[in-house]
Amino acid sequence: MFAGSRFCPRCGAEATREQVDDGVTLSCPRCDEPLQGLKLGATTVHECGACGGLWMAPDALQRLCDAREEHAGVVATLAAHAPTATASPDTVRYIPCPRCRKLMNRVNFAHSSGVVMDVCKTDGVWLDRGELQRIVDFVEHGGLETAREHEKEQLADERRRLDAARAASAASAASLSDLQSAAIGARLRTTADTPVERLFQDALGLFLRP
Ligand SMILES: [Zn+2]
Ligand SMILES: [Zn+2]
Repeated sequence: MFAGSRFCPRCGAEATREQVDDGVTLSCPRCDEPLQGLKLGATTVHECGACGGLWMAPDALQRLCDAREEHAGVVATLAAHAPTATASPDTVRYIPCPRCRKLMNRVNFAHSSGVVMDVCKTDGVWLDRGELQRIVDFVEHGGLETAREHEKEQLADERRRLDAARAASAASAASLSDLQSAAIGARLRTTADTPVERLFQDALGLFLRP
């Protein structure tokens, strides 16, 4: 989509770019430019006008994933802006959190998406240009549900292995196995009937697991 056109020629969604000044003063962890508040659907994120990277709170990313009716509009809005600088996200480099300046963790969204986010456990998530579009694409194609199924299978495998090990092991090892088995059982139960949101947080790898 060309900058300045109002509708995405691919999906027809209107590209509205509503910038907001919410008093947040942060700068881009890649190119140091000031970040600008930007409405994506009903969610406010912070964008670097130069490299097109996005900073958002973890719950903002979750809302964006959940709001499937907004996805076409979000993609169109992001496409309607041409960045002036290219951050070189191909290079593996740890970048500082825009808020607390500590180096962020690199986390594969939902373990399996291949989108490597930069995450500060305390403050939020940094996505380089194009990564939010890839996450939206992953969610649209059922990636979260697939990841949940995969996780359930892995947990079930883990439990079978533990059960087998316990059956074969001496009594001295049993108490540890009991604990592990109970922990895995609890995770299995929650995974079995939790909504995708819960997996999403879990898959973010940070906000539920100690
Ligand atoms: Zn930037
Ligand atoms: Zn931080």
